[in-house]
Amino acid sequence: MNNTTIFISDLHLSEQTQPLNQLFERCLQQWQGNIDALYILGDFFDVWIGDDDDSDFIRHIKSKLKSFSSATPVFFIHGNRDFLIGEKFAAETGIQLLTSPQQINLYEHEYIIMHGDELCTDDIAYQQFRAQSRNPLWQMAVLSKPIEERRLLAGQIRQMSETRKNNEGKSEISDVTEQAINELMSSHMQPTLPTLIHGHTHRPAVHESQLNNQPFKRYVIQDWADNYGGYLAVDTDGVHVHELKL
Ligand code: MN
Repeated sequence: MNNTTIFISDLHLSEQTQPLNQLFERCLQQWQGNIDALYILGDFFDVWIGDDDDSDFIRHIKSKLKSFSSATPVFFIHGNRDFLIGEKFAAETGIQLLTSPQQINLYEHEYIIMHGDELCTDDIAYQQFRAQSRNPLWQMAVLSKPIEERRLLAGQIRQMSETRKNNEGKSEISDVTEQAINELMSSHMQPTLPTLIHGHTHRPAVHESQLNNQPFKRYVIQDWADNYGGYLAVDTDGVHVHELKL
């Protein structure tokens, strides 16, 4: 036991993000064998079109994850960009795919962890797409298409979420709703009110909220972009926010 567990999300890694890819690799070197587990809460990749995509970039990242996971467990929850990551990728890298939301106990405290896109319930068009795209039959149909065709679809998905990001500041549509959070927390109150950890919104923060007069905290994980990244470290004292700079 190292008594620390690390959470990251929204790295949006791709061939085009070399400095951030290297920052992630330096983190892996520091963390390997020194933490109890690494949780990746979605949008680790900027896009994922199927486990059969084997560009140099993807092969490189897979080998890094595989050697890391041989010493330290890695858990993965899908994001809205990399929801097509499947069992083949998991087997090749040694990561363990989790369904969302997950309730976990760390150092005698309860946590709910998720990517967070499911909490953005005001964005009805996105929630419809989410329901469709998480259907195994839809995924099978997509994955059976030639890889070039899937690249086009990935472009459309990226464009859809970029359009939403550009609305940031003007619209609340791409943020979580209080109603969705309260519903989630109400169904996860046992044995004690957990702490919520999610990413997705690119609005890193610590929110102090209440449910039925009981306080709880909600941590939004830092996304990685430009020269910055970040992660949450959970230990026996609770959650600690860490920033990373290139
Ligand atoms: Mn996301």
